[in-house]
Amino acid sequence: MNIKYIIFLAFLAMACQSNVPEASVNAKQSVEISNNITNVKNKIFDDPAISVDYLMGKFDPKTDSRFVEIDTKHADRPNLLLRSEAYTAFLEMLAAAQKDGISFTIKSATRNFDYQKGIWERKWNGKTTVDGLKLNESLPDPHKRALKILEYSSMPGSSRHHWGTDLDINSFDNNYFEQGKGLAEYNWLVQNAHRFGFCQPYSPKDSNRPNGYQEEKWHWSFLPLSKTFTQQAELKLRDEMISGFDGAQAALSIGLIRNYVLGINKECYKFK
Ligand SMILES: [Zn+2]
Repeated sequence: MNIKYIIFLAFLAMACQSNVPEASVNAKQSVEISNNITNVKNKIFDDPAISVDYLMGKFDPKTDSRFVEIDTKHADRPNLLLRSEAYTAFLEMLAAAQKDGISFTIKSATRNFDYQKGIWERKWNGKTTVDGLKLNESLPDPHKRALKILEYSSMPGSSRHHWGTDLDINSFDNNYFEQGKGLAEYNWLVQNAHRFGFCQPYSPKDSNRPNGYQEEKWHWSFLPLSKTFTQQAELKLRDEMISGFDGAQAALSIGLIRNYVLGINKECYKFK
């Protein structure tokens, strides 16, 4: 065996070794490519600027320059925050509504993970009653208890209120919007909110929206931002990521992301 042949064999061995990790990278790439093909079909692309932490409300909107404080003359308490684009659109919508004798007061806006955890755990542990009941006593089964709270409240990490695009207006009671002043306000929103980019994600539960929260006539979402966040949530969030609070394990049996995060009015998502 001459020296050139030995060098050739040594070179070949090195090349083969260096191919081992390359081959595994190729396998990973092919999985990513096939995922991407699925996403192209759904017209959803990864936006690396929208992180999982943002989507799950794991940040402090008070120190985030994209958020602005809502003037207390438009809110029922101080320190409510919205994404500035959503607030600007709300003010334009309010000005138009006021010309028609309609007024809006914001009752809730951005709520981060920690805030939502407080709401959820108070209901989970019976400190806040739901339909007059302490759920820790009346519904000991975790799956059933979570479903009851999910009629109107999100699990931390899965709320549209994390995003700074969604706001609750005038009353948390659907009955308020079914007569008199409340009905006039709701009718105005149904006819006009879309002109300012707003949509009602929790529309009536029916064949068009079989899953998710009960109807919320007070909850409106600023679509130019929230449509993208919904798409990124579909791409990036998984039930297994829902953790860090009492009762979180029920997210898996409930199918939280598919049925609740994506269980919204289709007008607020794919068809607009
Ligand atoms: Zn809401």
